[in-house]
Formats: sequence, structure tokens, C-alpha cells
Amino acid sequence: MQCRPATPAPGAWQAQLAGAIRDPHELCRRLGLAPEWVPGAEAGHALFEVRVPEAYLARIRPGDPSDPLLRQVLPLGEEAEAAPGYVADPLEEADHSPRRGLIHKYAGRVLLIASPACAVNCRYCFRRHFPYEENAPSRAQWEETLSYLRDDASIHEAILSGGDPLAASDRQLSWLVERLEAIPHLRRLRIHTRLPVVIPDRIDDALLDWLGGTRLQKVMVLHINHAREIDEAVVEACRRLQAAGVTLLNQSVLLQGVNDDVASLAALSERLFEAGILPYYLHVLDPVAGAAHFDATDEAARALVAELRRHLPGFLMPTLVREVPGEASKTPL
Ligand SMILES: *Cc1c(COP(=O)(O)O)cnc(C)c1O
Ligand code: SF4
Repeated sequence: MQCRPATPAPGAWQAQLAGAIRDPHELCRRLGLAPEWVPGAEAGHALFEVRVPEAYLARIRPGDPSDPLLRQVLPLGEEAEAAPGYVADPLEEADHSPRRGLIHKYAGRVLLIASPACAVNCRYCFRRHFPYEENAPSRAQWEETLSYLRDDASIHEAILSGGDPLAASDRQLSWLVERLEAIPHLRRLRIHTRLPVVIPDRIDDALLDWLGGTRLQKVMVLHINHAREIDEAVVEACRRLQAAGVTLLNQSVLLQGVNDDVASLAALSERLFEAGILPYYLHVLDPVAGAAHFDATDEAARALVAELRRHLPGFLMPTLVREVPGEASKTPL
């Protein structure tokens, strides 16, 4: 299923994806960080490689090591420190994969790993140790996944996930969606993605063509953690998605030093709504090895959300949740 155009136009999303920064030295240099940040960036990069597209880099304040956007993408020496309870597969997803590339944990909906790659590598990612090579299915394996969906009439929603599903080509995605919509009991197509945020040009005519054209109801769950991630290009991408009939929701992760204060969370909800996106989930950090330095305590998380409620209308409140392995849904805190 490798079917990228051979040479994408320079501004096209494929070129931006291929041109993302993947070198910790370059990241530090481009952002004017002091040399003391380089060894940590190298150490973290050795565990989970750096990846930052230019369109996202442009929103980071140069010379500010505590910038909330930078903190999400800059590897740190702390990532190498072991922390009790922080493990490689915190969600035990490996136990819920009846077909390659398919995770069925909750009633009525299944998660499909539509692309192993991401456009950005978030340092707190719970899939940073995910065995993607084993989960990047071929077309023949997709047929098996599709027959699993066909055989279970209780499944009403297919969730494209990853990695980032929108890192796959439009040809590949339209092929998949065409087969999904032929399954009569499927009602909804959901896409979990960060790509429209980090490379807004991903929302191009080719994508809107297959997405706008499907009979399935369309939901896109974006992943935005800070108001400053939403620039005008992101707002424009969201407008185009809405015009194509896509309902836009957002999930965030509560991250120490990024958004763990009432002002940041309130500003995020307000800015999301300006872009036509409703807050959906606020996740507490999954205890993945290498991300312990991002963790906020449960009490702090609950107190924050209680305070946030005093600042926002109810429809701008995300639900604070944790993913507990073995549970039939996300667990509200
Ligand atoms: C989070 C998740 C879903 C979606 O859960 P919702 O509460 O419907 O958003 C579905 N499948 C898996 C495996 C998940 O981890
Ligand atoms: S975009 Fe999502 S899946 Fe990809 S690295 Fe970031 S958090 Fe992980």
C-alpha cells in the first residue's frame, strides 16, 4: 500500500512530511536553544526519534526552552530515567488485537491502525514503544480486518488511528473507506489525527474528496494541547473539514509544563471553539516509559478541572479521563 506520488509539489503535505526536522541538533539550532540542551535532546532522540514539521516549528517561540509547544517535541535526558509503574505498553493493547492492525476493546467501535507513522513525534506518546512494524498491514491483511468488521454486526463505528492515519496516502485511505462504507452495519467513520494541526495543508482537495463523499457520518477527533497550536492555517483547515460535513472534536493530554494550569486549559477551550472544535477528552498521562516528567497527580488534575468549570460554559468542558486496561470504556476521574 505504498502509493505516494513520486515527487510531490514543494508545498504539498507529502513534501512537508518528508521535510520534517529529524535531527536533535538541528531542532536546537533552529530554535536558538543553548548548547546545554543538546546532549539531552540526543539521549531522548536515541529512544524515540525527533520529528517536527516546519509548520509546527514556526509556532514555537525561539530561545524559550519552556515554550509549551516546544516541550511536546523536544527530547530530554529525563526520558532515559526509569520510573516505577511506567512501562512500554501501558494500555496492554497487544492483548486486544484480534487481527493485525485492529484493536477491539470497546462495544460498538473498533480502532484500525491505518498508518504506522506520525507527522510529529510527541514525547509523551503512549505508543512510543508500539511495535508498529507488526501492525502495518498489507492489503491482504486489511481484507482480514474488513471481514472481522463484516462478521460483527454490533460494530457501528470504525476509528482510523495510528500512528496518524492521515500520514497514509489519499489513495490508500479512499480504498479503505470505500470498503468500510460497503459494510451495511457501519454508520460512522471516526478519524483520530494530529496531522491537520501540525501540517494544516494535509486538508487538501484530494482528502476532502474521499472524506466528503462517503455515506458514513464523519467525526474527526483532533489532538491539540495548547491554544497556541491553533494558528490561522489550522482554523482554515477546520473550516474546510466542517464544510465537508465533518464533526470536529478535540482530545488533549494533561501535561506538566504544557497545559497544567487553569488559564492554559480555559484558553485552549475558547480557541478550540473559535476554530469550530468542541473539547471531548482531557486525558491524564498514560504511564509510558520515558514520559514520567510530564505527569500531574490525580488530585491536581481533579482540582484543575473543578476550577476550570468555574470559568467555562459546560459545552467547553472536556471530560477528564484515564484509560484503564481491561475496562469497557475510558474511566472518568
Ligand atoms: C479510546 C478508544 C476508543 C474510543 O473511545 P471513545 O470513548 O468512544 O472515544 C475505541 N477503541 C479503543 C481501543 C480506544 O482506546
Ligand atoms: S501524533 Fe499522536 S500517535 Fe503520533 S506521536 Fe503524537 S501523540 Fe503519539
